[in-house]
Amino acid sequence: MVRNGGHLELPTDLLVGCDGRGSSVRTHAGLALAPAREAYDVLWFKVSPPPDELEACDFHISVRSGQHPLVAYTSWDGQWQCGVIMPKGGMAEFRTADWLTPALRAAPTAFAEHVLAHRNAVSRPVRLNVTVGHAPSWSAPGVLVLGDAAHPMSPVRAQGINLALRDAVVAANHLGGLAAGRPTPDAVNQACAAIQAEREPEILRAQRLQRREARGQGDARAGTWRFTLAKRGARAVGRYRWAQRAWLSRQRGLRFGTTRVVLDALPDT
Ligand SMILES: Cc1cc2nc3c(=O)[nH]c(=O)nc-3n(C[C@H](O)[C@H](O)[C@H](O)COP(=O)(O)OP(=O)(O)OC[C@H]3O[C@@H](n4cnc5c(N)ncnc54)[C@H](O)[C@@H]3O)c2cc1C
Repeated sequence: MVRNGGHLELPTDLLVGCDGRGSSVRTHAGLALAPAREAYDVLWFKVSPPPDELEACDFHISVRSGQHPLVAYTSWDGQWQCGVIMPKGGMAEFRTADWLTPALRAAPTAFAEHVLAHRNAVSRPVRLNVTVGHAPSWSAPGVLVLGDAAHPMSPVRAQGINLALRDAVVAANHLGGLAAGRPTPDAVNQACAAIQAEREPEILRAQRLQRREARGQGDARAGTWRFTLAKRGARAVGRYRWAQRAWLSRQRGLRFGTTRVVLDALPDT
């Protein structure tokens, strides 16, 4: 260990950066991030839900032609976590004292009335800058990035945490054996490349599937013919088992992953 002024240096064979979408490990290692086109902003706020929603496990998505979609779910603290999803640059209209009224434009009437009636208890809104993309290379000599640091995920269908955990399992499988011995730099670098090779196809597929899901929200906002057709179709056939099964099967790849990930037995340490 070397202390150098205010810096502390720790020698290591491999530094694994799991420091999220704004990863400073990725930046310091000189690893590029290829951003996807679907960058957007979310206006994030909380409010108490109606009593019958307290124990509910529902995820509400409200879409209305020409308005920013609004999502809401009951969070760990019993509050409704709400998010208004908008393209970059859309935040300007919420920089007013009455930001809440435009934030609720897509909401059903009863939902909007409830939130406005409790406006004094609404939390201060926070802007979430949603960047999506992937690093073409997840590693540099002695450095590996995983999770959002390697592939910042969109919130669509809430899969980013699962995917980050699956990265960690695969990394443990490849690095566990090395950690027990004295690995050469080449062996560490090869393990890092193998981790990326194993995880990347599922990540890129998940990001494609998230884009496909997000297109539906874009169609809804723009009120396209595709959205009108889908809405009519959902009303007409949504109550049938076969239609529900077809929808669920379309969701499967994104929600359950597309590769098999199993933690191998780790060597005793
Ligand atoms: C608005 C929004 C909503 C989302 N909702 C969901 C959801 O409901 N479910 C879901 O699965 N995914 C969701 N996602 C995606 C999900 O948040 C990420 O894909 C997931 O958290 C990635 O996990 P991670 O461990 O790689 O990174 P993170 O969860 O971002 O964890 C990184 C950690 O590193 C820490 N850190 C950063 N820099 C440093 C530093 N210099 N020193 C020390 N620590 C540092 C951070 O504090 C943080 O704790 C959402 C994303 C967004 C933008």
